[in-house]
Amino acid sequence: MSTPSDTSAPAPSDLAYIRFVSVENMMKQVHSIGIETMLGDLARYIEDDFRRWEQFDKTPRVASHSTEGVIELMPTSDGEDYGFKYVNGHPKNTKVGLQTVTAFGLLARVDTGYPELLTEMTLLTALRTAATSAMVASHLAPKGSKVMAMIGNGAQSEFQALAMRAICGIDTLRLYDIDRAATDKVVRNLGRLGFDLVPCATPEEAIEGARIITTCTADKQYATILTDNMVGAGVHINAIGGDCPGKTELHRDILTRSDVFVEYPPQTRIEGEIQQMPEDFPVTEMWQVITGAVPGRTNDRQITLFDGVGFAIEDFSALRYLRDKLRDHPFFQELDIIADPDDPRDLFGMLGRAGPR
Ligand code: NAD
Repeated sequence: MSTPSDTSAPAPSDLAYIRFVSVENMMKQVHSIGIETMLGDLARYIEDDFRRWEQFDKTPRVASHSTEGVIELMPTSDGEDYGFKYVNGHPKNTKVGLQTVTAFGLLARVDTGYPELLTEMTLLTALRTAATSAMVASHLAPKGSKVMAMIGNGAQSEFQALAMRAICGIDTLRLYDIDRAATDKVVRNLGRLGFDLVPCATPEEAIEGARIITTCTADKQYATILTDNMVGAGVHINAIGGDCPGKTELHRDILTRSDVFVEYPPQTRIEGEIQQMPEDFPVTEMWQVITGAVPGRTNDRQITLFDGVGFAIEDFSALRYLRDKLRDHPFFQELDIIADPDDPRDLFGMLGRAGPR
């Protein structure tokens, strides 16, 4: 399916306000479209943008690190639109009732430089991360995989599960988290949605019989959620929790036995599982698998590993998708964020609109 952008020329009056999608309107949007439909649509938008990878401006995200976490800006442009996301990652936040990850994002026109959409992206990040994971798994996971181990049952996990079902046909989830309350939450949330749910007491138990293993934990350290002896032949690992320097999930020996697939190597070498490996450690760029330039999975015994850190183009695809959807699902407010003087050179004169009469 093609996912064309809206490129019609703007009238100045259209640019005085930008569309703003609040958290409440994003929730309405998800219900109006249907979450699994939305995840499938997002996966198609992301795949389309991976297919035209070479058209994009690309840069590793701009990160500001602290001992507690990271704040990042993620910009990109395809020459017609420009997008960026502001996102944080603070694993200790949940202890004080705050989320590990929150985000908002913006889409602007390149021809005028005017922004046209500002949106919450905490929900949209969970959706696009899940859609990316499942889109990648649809290329790399063993065909007919029905069972996924889900290690780390926090904020991202239900979205991951639903995307893997919508796009790859997963029907059984084997769940593990160091905090049993997180697993109970997933069981509560997904209990009536038709999954076969298996809470597990250890990560070893969780991966039994699973052909897809998702690790989505949050801890700012070199963690070993999976050790080498736990991973058998013929599985696909979707490792998405390790996404900044000093924060990984897999023992390095797993990487040497796997074929590793990444989004954008200059960013993944800083942030991904492969930060543990030498700089020339071989990886395959996912966009090249999608265009058919290089093979993905080549045999049943291969271990494929998606070292997913989240890249700006995925957010751009999500912003583009949301902008297109607002036409039929108008859950937005108009936001007065752009100054619009009657004479573009008389910005000072515009002040009079709000001054004393
Ligand atoms: P969260 O804090 O809501 O959930 C993380 C869960 O991991 C918690 O339930 C915690 O108990 C569990 N956990 C921690 N250590 C564990 C261990 N050793 N074994 C098992 N479980 C463990 O966080 P979230 O929003 O679900 O995000 C999870 C991770 O994914 C974060 O590190 C985040 O930065 C990352 N993330 C990556 C992307 C991407 O594009 N790759 C996108 C969003 C989030």
